[in-house]
Formats: sequence, C-alpha cells, structure tokens
Amino acid sequence: MNRFILYLLRWQLSTPILWLVVRQLGAGIIPTIIANVVGGCIFFWVDKFIFTSKAVELWQLKKGKCDRCGKLTDLWRLALTEGYDKRSEKYPKYYCMECSLTKTNELRRKGIKVRGKSK
Ligand SMILES: [Zn+2]
Repeated sequence: MNRFILYLLRWQLSTPILWLVVRQLGAGIIPTIIANVVGGCIFFWVDKFIFTSKAVELWQLKKGKCDRCGKLTDLWRLALTEGYDKRSEKYPKYYCMECSLTKTNELRRKGIKVRGKSK
C-alpha cells in the first residue's frame, strides 16, 4: 500500500512538467509528446526506485485461515523488506495479527528490519 501511495504522489510530480510545457508551447499533440518525453527522462529513475527499493515494505493481505494457529480472520504476509524477499515463495504463509507479530519479532531477532509494532 505504501508503494501505491508513493506512486500516486509521483504522478502528481509530473503535473508541473506537463503544465509548464503546455503553458509555454500550447496544448497540441507535439507539446504533449515533448512533456511526456521530459517526464519520462526524469521519472524513469523515480519509478525504478519506487518499484525496486527495499526501503518500501511489501505486505500481502487476505482473509482466511492462519497458517500458524488456524484462526479464521484477516491475514498478513510480509513479502518484501530490506534483506528479506519472499515474493516468489512457492507456498506463502499467511498469519493472523497475533501470529504475524510473533513472526515479525522472530525476523527482527534475525536482524531483518521490519517496521510496524512489535509484541
Ligand atoms: Zn494465527
């Protein structure tokens, strides 16, 4: 979710470029293409950071049965953070809030940085 909000903010950053070019050159197709080329040259790097940065944690959510205690509820799974990449895990494990806190504390003890609250 953090990555999505970051991405929406990044789209807003392209607004001044589009506005400047359109204001200076008009709103025709050529100025719009120029604005998008300028934006692409800048935002290629910003987008690359957003989608590959390990500064952003990736959590996956679903409803179902906890893989640790079996409780039927909302479930969490940490898929990606710095030094931890379980995005392509064959059998992903999802945990309830309680078990997720236990799991993230285990990860913290192993030296993996997990934000959010601890138990
Ligand atoms: Zn559980």
